[in-house]
Amino acid sequence: MTLLDVDGVVKEFGGLLAIDDLSVSVDRGELVGVMGPNGAGKSTFFNCVSGVVKPDAGTVTFDGDDVTGEQPETLARRGLVRTFQHTRQLDTMTVRENVRLAAPDQPGERTIPALVRSDGMQSVERDVAERADELIEAFELDHLADEYASNLSGGQRKLLEMARVLMLDPDMLLLDEPFAGVNPTLTNDIADRIRDLNDDGMTVVVIEHELETLTELVDRLVVLQQGSVLVDDDPETVLNDERVIEAYLGE
Ligand code: ADP
Ligand code: MG
Repeated sequence: MTLLDVDGVVKEFGGLLAIDDLSVSVDRGELVGVMGPNGAGKSTFFNCVSGVVKPDAGTVTFDGDDVTGEQPETLARRGLVRTFQHTRQLDTMTVRENVRLAAPDQPGERTIPALVRSDGMQSVERDVAERADELIEAFELDHLADEYASNLSGGQRKLLEMARVLMLDPDMLLLDEPFAGVNPTLTNDIADRIRDLNDDGMTVVVIEHELETLTELVDRLVVLQQGSVLVDDDPETVLNDERVIEAYLGE
């Protein structure tokens, strides 16, 4: 069953076609990689899907509804969230505060189901705190929970970013270069967490421009070149595709 359907999307920046008639769809439960050389349009693809920029043409359908041009907050309430290539946590707050703050503003609209209990607001607050601590532990950040975010390494910031967006309990998670600038040990940790989330039923799309990490992780690879899909297939087929080899050698 299709969860995300991107159809004929176009995005131009001052005469440059960053996204050029892009069509991709993702089924519920899939773990899909998006790769392509720098400037291929990977982040712009996420921006168009997640409401950060409005496509000039084409449609984005999420869970059966046309969501083209909807605001990121609206999409998050629908269950579609993304992380940014350059992480966005608040440096002057601790890890724990950052994760707690990411909870939905209005419990009840789209809230972690466990947050809604009969004894009202206080339990919502307590459950936000509990959920935050669970995520901090799951991402192995517990020893850093009271550390200011500014003191984290690049890799730890990526983990924090993922913990934050998971406070929104999404159906679909878009990750923009979660491995960039991350050391090998943390890269494996992040890959494990992504796999766990997918095993638990979350649909995940991961952007990465290095081939190796992605091909081991995902079931399907979409290669972008100059804003369009060059190849969309299983990792092995993609890696042996002449056009892909050429695109990467020609970088
Ligand atoms: P990737 O993530 O694959 O490296 P991007 O999607 O960031 O590529 O960028 C694709 C192209 O669009 C690049 O040429 C980039 O400079 C341009 N671009 C992206 N966002 C903007 C923007 N907000 N304003 C102007 N140009 C942009
Ligand atoms: Mg990018």
